[in-house]
Amino acid sequence: MIAGPCAVETAEQILETARLMKLAGADALRGGAFKPRSSPYSFQGLGKEGLVLLAKAREATGLAIVTEAVDEASLELVGEFADVVQIGARNMQNYELLKRVGRLRKPVLLKRGLSATLEDLLLSAEYVLAEGNPDVILCERGIRTFSRHSRYTLDLSVVPAARSLSHLPIVVDPSHAVGRSDRVPSMARAAVAAGADGVMIEVHPVPGEALSDGRQALLPQQSADLIAQLRAIAAIVSRKAEALL
Ligand code: PEP
Ligand code: MN
Repeated sequence: MIAGPCAVETAEQILETARLMKLAGADALRGGAFKPRSSPYSFQGLGKEGLVLLAKAREATGLAIVTEAVDEASLELVGEFADVVQIGARNMQNYELLKRVGRLRKPVLLKRGLSATLEDLLLSAEYVLAEGNPDVILCERGIRTFSRHSRYTLDLSVVPAARSLSHLPIVVDPSHAVGRSDRVPSMARAAVAAGADGVMIEVHPVPGEALSDGRQALLPQQSADLIAQLRAIAAIVSRKAEALL
């Protein structure tokens, strides 16, 4: 379970979220210090200051830190602070960045591109693996389709497909896919039922004031309730349980 805000905004925001997510039973804290935004006028992240705040949150809670590198310059810094380096959907096919991440000795969360097939995603993962870094986590975060009811279309059928084609773990991010907080829990539950190895959700103490992706952020209490449900579903559909059938 990876939970946290879209972006690190203030010390209070990230420390409070980290503390509550630790209590809720999350394993890792997410939060971007470098943000790849569709508009150049949107909040771009706190940069190094955000990474320092994430390190404080890790110190206070023991949660692992998942944070994004957007280019080779930010990767230098992110590599020093993060426990898991996130490569965002827009960078899934930035092959030079993938090679660099492959030379880093840190796990990588590789998000599926907006119009990438599973084969494209696996080939991008291969760029990291081929450089000697075996720790790649795949992430489904929704793709572009003709549907308009949802920010993107969450392709949950990729979960069993990835599991049968690859040994790599696959995590599902329903927040970016559906784009609305009221629809996140149902798709998170479906992701675990489909066999996902993990779920990543966006959480904010005051979603209405978030500097990015507030519409899709759950409140901390909603996240805690969801995490408890996901653990219960995971226990029913786990591979251990499969082995017993
Ligand atoms: C994010 O995780 O906040 C993010 C920007 O995700 P994506 O690259 O999937 O859009
Ligand atoms: Mn986001």
